[in-house]
Amino acid sequence: MKPKRRTSLPGKPAEVRVPLALLSLLERTTNDLITLPSAALDALIDRTLADIGRLFGADRAYLFLASDDGTVFDNTHEWCAPGITPQRENLQGLPMGLLPWWAAEMMAGRGIVLGSLDELPPEAGAERALLEPQGIQSLLALPMRWRGRFWGLAGFDHVAQRRVWLADEVAVLRLVVSAFAQGFERRRLDARLGLASTVFHHAQEGIFVTDGERRILDVNPTFTEITGCRADAAIGRLQQEVLPHSDGVEIRRAVAAVGLWRGEIDHERADGQNQWLRVTVSAVRDERGEASGFVGVFSDITRLREQERQLRQLAYHDPLTQLPNRVLLADRMRQALARSRRSGELLAVCLLDLDGFKPINDTHGHAGGDRVLVELARRLTAVLREGDTVARLGGDEFVLVLPGLSSQADCELLLQRALAEVEAPIPLSAQVTVRLTASVGVRTVPPAPDDADTLLRQADQALYAAKREGRARIHRFDAEDERLAEQRHARISQVAEALQRGEMRLHYQPIVDLRSGRTLRAEALVRWARPGGPLVPPGEWLPLIEHTAVISQLGDWVLATALEACARWQLVQPGLGVSVNVSARELCDPDHARHVAAALARHPGLPPQLLQLEVVESAPMTALPSAMATMRACTALGAAFALDDFGTGYSSLAYLKTLPAAVVKIDRSFVAHLADSPSDRRIVQGIIELVGGCGLEAVAEGVETQAQARELLAAGCTLGQGYGILPPVPEAQWIDWLRQPPRPVVP
Ligand code: C2E
Ligand code: CA
Ligand code: CA
Repeated sequence: MKPKRRTSLPGKPAEVRVPLALLSLLERTTNDLITLPSAALDALIDRTLADIGRLFGADRAYLFLASDDGTVFDNTHEWCAPGITPQRENLQGLPMGLLPWWAAEMMAGRGIVLGSLDELPPEAGAERALLEPQGIQSLLALPMRWRGRFWGLAGFDHVAQRRVWLADEVAVLRLVVSAFAQGFERRRLDARLGLASTVFHHAQEGIFVTDGERRILDVNPTFTEITGCRADAAIGRLQQEVLPHSDGVEIRRAVAAVGLWRGEIDHERADGQNQWLRVTVSAVRDERGEASGFVGVFSDITRLREQERQLRQLAYHDPLTQLPNRVLLADRMRQALARSRRSGELLAVCLLDLDGFKPINDTHGHAGGDRVLVELARRLTAVLREGDTVARLGGDEFVLVLPGLSSQADCELLLQRALAEVEAPIPLSAQVTVRLTASVGVRTVPPAPDDADTLLRQADQALYAAKREGRARIHRFDAEDERLAEQRHARISQVAEALQRGEMRLHYQPIVDLRSGRTLRAEALVRWARPGGPLVPPGEWLPLIEHTAVISQLGDWVLATALEACARWQLVQPGLGVSVNVSARELCDPDHARHVAAALARHPGLPPQLLQLEVVESAPMTALPSAMATMRACTALGAAFALDDFGTGYSSLAYLKTLPAAVVKIDRSFVAHLADSPSDRRIVQGIIELVGGCGLEAVAEGVETQAQARELLAAGCTLGQGYGILPPVPEAQWIDWLRQPPRPVVP
């Protein structure tokens, strides 16, 4: 179609004179821009440019899009008549500043209509320099503007011939071009909305949108996933109905005041499960600054909360009984102490220790012992009041913190109830129930001590007193206990100092073959030679230091001294051994085997097999794995173990076979009545058979009479030790004993 030339005659009434095709093109373009998706925009523009180009016989129709700041142009769309070389590739990233006149006309919204290049004003030198070489004769360039935003321009060039643009044509084309601008604007909004919609639909957070009245307008799929509430069940309802929260009022107030509320709420899922949600509600404000709606974003933090709870539980509770541990107890005691100081109320801190719990562990195994502790934890918690604390310090020791008591009698009553719970039979299985008692040390406040540590220490002193008074009782801390505790401390220091000063002595007592009277080895027994006084036997001071570091220092000294002596005896009686007593504390000390190795290493000429270590039967039970480790390590060095005081502990047969011991020493309490008590005779007989059956050697302790020795020999026990043979003696006498020819104990 070839356009006709028209000229507008001045003075004629205004009448739109444009080709019908142009009007229909305008109608179609605007219509398409409204109805087609913005993805079709580029194709629509290309088609429209081509239509216009053809309609007006142009050689090129094109579109330049401005950068966001309007300083750079890109040729994004181009139509060329047949035979015309496309220019689009060359026209990217054009700086607006290169064509200042052009730019000014465009920004002002006027556009450029040139019938010929002669119409260019003198200031458009740069423009002329650009257009002339391309052979352009006429040109129309119209700005793309919509709602004040400048999008770029559309242009139409004529090269082959001139074209005079009519005002009406230009007016209609302006409409078409501004329709392009609307298309670009819509595409921008769609992109934004598309992004928002993507976020809404794929967010890991639950999202709800409400109107100003908090009625839910929309929720996203994650909302349903988390809350179990379907979109159709949520939309249209009030937010507080769908996500009820006890602090609803507070949330509303915060949102109203600062436009935002953040917090964690517990919520019941649609399926009835409880969950924790971390929620942010923010107000959407309109132009006047009023909340036109609200957006809530939340995530499910139930797992996180649960993990936190477990961590807290682990850090502050005893894993076996779930009772508060030492850390939490310290906190509770500080609180209770502060409360009592403030109010003057009576507070009691009680240390409850089970009497004879070890035998339960020994006979029913650790699993049985654990079950007893768990059951007692449950009972104690149940019997005490709401604000009381029951904590476990480890082992069989519990602490009760009882604040706000009305009187001492009240405290007594509560503790009696707790003891009754401890004493009630505890079923372990269908056949087995166990019975226990407990000793309790109580420290009441006021008067308040300096700190919680002192409080607990004084309860411990009271407990010590309760145990000493015969167990299964309650003892209240008083000044006397404090005095005794101080005394105990002072005595422990005295023993430690005596050891440092070299006041300890070893006496030796022979272990002999009852038939020949031959001495096999000596048991080393410690005595304290107090200056100016008689020798103090170990029974008077050893128990005092048994659970302190002093016992290990003493043990090292005994071992070294006994090995030195034994090395000397080899000259008198080669092959003579020595037995050294080892405390439970040393046995469980992971370093002890190293101490033994070091002591042996100082006597390379002495066969390690000559050293025997005596441990009381129940000692390994205090910490079986570490005791076993020490025993194995010492055995590997060549030393042998003897189980001392056998029969007084609670050893089982299985235990006897597990421990790497070579010798069993039958406790002297059985030997004492061997001659006159048939039942003791049967026990000793049993022990000897048991020991022999396990491949161990039996030694009878406390052999005082020939009658006892005779009975032992008859029962099959050939080794003995006792006053009847020789009491423990200092080394000089011991050497004399060795030099005497052996005499049979039973002639
Ligand atoms: P134990 O290991 O059972 O030692 C045997 C105790 O029985 C010794 O008492 C000994 O003097 C005494 N005894 C020996 N024969 C007879 C007898 O025929 N009749 C009576 N009634 N008693 C007899 P001692 O020396 O007073 O030692 C008491 C306990 O002290 C020892 O019992 C042992 O457990 C502990 N002990 C002694 N020396 C040491 C040591 O160096 N280290 C450690 N850890 N404990 C030691
Ligand atoms: Ca012993
Ligand atoms: Ca013994």
